[in-house]
Amino acid sequence: MYPVYVDTNVMAGNTGEADASGAFAGLLYLPCTPENGFVPAIPKEKVDLVYLCYPNNPTGATATKAQLQEWVDYALANDTTLLYDAAYEAYIQDPELPRSIFEIPGARRCAIEFRSFSKIAGFTGVRCAYIIIPKELEGRTTGGTRQLVHPLWSRRHSTKFNGASYPVQRGAAAIFTPQGEAEVTELITHYMGNAALLRAACADVGLAVYGGENAPYVWVACPAGTDSWGMFDRMLTEANVVITPGSGFGAAGEGYFRISAFNSRANVEEVCRRIRQLLG
Ligand SMILES: *Cc1c(COP(=O)(O)O)cnc(C)c1O
Repeated sequence: MYPVYVDTNVMAGNTGEADASGAFAGLLYLPCTPENGFVPAIPKEKVDLVYLCYPNNPTGATATKAQLQEWVDYALANDTTLLYDAAYEAYIQDPELPRSIFEIPGARRCAIEFRSFSKIAGFTGVRCAYIIIPKELEGRTTGGTRQLVHPLWSRRHSTKFNGASYPVQRGAAAIFTPQGEAEVTELITHYMGNAALLRAACADVGLAVYGGENAPYVWVACPAGTDSWGMFDRMLTEANVVITPGSGFGAAGEGYFRISAFNSRANVEEVCRRIRQLLG
């Protein structure tokens, strides 16, 4: 998963120390594998917070309404808060797939959703995002008292953050105009075309390929005998292409690498040529 979920909790003091494998005490890691379609099984344990990200970075996997309903039911039964990261919802092509956790009945009582302009409109350097905290969402204090989350967030936000700058907000608002929506659609179609080319190139050389159909990331199993960093080195030194080693996303990512579709068509076509040359 997106390493920020771990790092922010470590920095906030929410975990214990890391063990020799790099796993932090106090966190429950849920393996996402091809066998479970990169949607982890519901844990038997009771946890306070669950991070879910669909479409997923790095695997490009998506979750169905039925799968998200299981998480909402778990959260309601266990007083768990779901932190649902929908940064890539605009990349969903399949109309059956949910674009928001709030499409799932009961989610307003147990979930917070993150949305960002970073991937939908190239705002990564510009900085603008938003989150949805339903007014009815309650958390529990350490002592077990129920507490509405929205007023806490409102207090925190209006005290510690004065908001994104006005020009940035105007830029973000422009995304929702008819012209903005048309331009975003064109950009996403372009990236999804890149993803399809990257998927095809990796499949052609016999690699197992996941994602890239409702997300801008293609998740690829390394050739037999090569680990994630070995693949990174090969691609860098033999093909002059930078990919992301899967092990950087957690233990279950070892043996995989991620290719991003965020690039020009010409660069992607060249990368596909080099993948075929290197591994074909
Ligand atoms: C890029 C990304 C975000 C967005 O982060 P910003 O801070 O808004 O740029 C959120 N979640 C995931 C999984 C991402 O990959």
